[in-house]
Amino acid sequence: MPFNTAWIKGYREFTLDGDKLFCTVCSKIIHADKKFIVDQHAKCSKHILNMQKSEGGTSQQTLKTCLKQSAKHTVQQKQFNAELCKAMITSNIPLAKLNSPNLRQFLGKFCNINIPDESTIRKGSVDSIFKETLTNINTDRKVKSC
Ligand SMILES: [Zn+2]
Repeated sequence: MPFNTAWIKGYREFTLDGDKLFCTVCSKIIHADKKFIVDQHAKCSKHILNMQKSEGGTSQQTLKTCLKQSAKHTVQQKQFNAELCKAMITSNIPLAKLNSPNLRQFLGKFCNINIPDESTIRKGSVDSIFKETLTNINTDRKVKSC
């Protein structure tokens, strides 16, 4: 019997992907050729447990949430790179020290973020820190000359 969309009426957790029935809470395709298979899956303990988890907010992430988190992570990574660069430069620590395996291991263990390569920091952050420093020096000179 071909799949009938009426079989999944009342179930929010099922979506149709072409002619395949997908359970979003269990993240699996249900091979349903009869309505009772859909009902049986909805009543199985694993599905019920997944539904409870889903209602608790720990459900499968949608693509939109993944992208949002990814964008947030990218912003965090850029901020981390910039602040790490500034901290190293203002402390007279050569950026090449970032390539030290022990330092990378230490930072990776406690920072819970991707430790950038020295060249990444050099390309991405040094220029803006240089400009910021130059602006500060010019501002200081103007204040002193007044
Ligand atoms: Zn399910």
